[in-house]
Amino acid sequence: MNITQFKIREPHPYDQDPTWQKQGACHGQPTTLWFPKRGTSRKKIQEAKTFCNNCPIQTKCLEYALHHHDLHGIWGGHTEQERQRIRTKQNKNQTWKLRKLN
Ligand code: SF4
Repeated sequence: MNITQFKIREPHPYDQDPTWQKQGACHGQPTTLWFPKRGTSRKKIQEAKTFCNNCPIQTKCLEYALHHHDLHGIWGGHTEQERQRIRTKQNKNQTWKLRKLN
């Protein structure tokens, strides 16, 4: 990796007021469910995702986590790997749109 691969991220608007996280279905639940360790069963991961899929702020949470690349665990119903795949897809779409404009 060289220095040109680093991107400085702008703060996300939700950084200003993190109280939105208190509206999440995970609020008050054991955080270990959303931060699985290596080797955690799929069943346990699915348990966290089920909370997320019924969460009133799932979209907001996922948007936040997609913005902050360095977040660990499950956010917005997606694991780190799943969020990375979404970002890759978004980047490809963006590149395609830019090519189409040129
Ligand atoms: S989407 Fe999941 S991780 Fe995000 S606030 Fe809701 S329950 Fe918590």
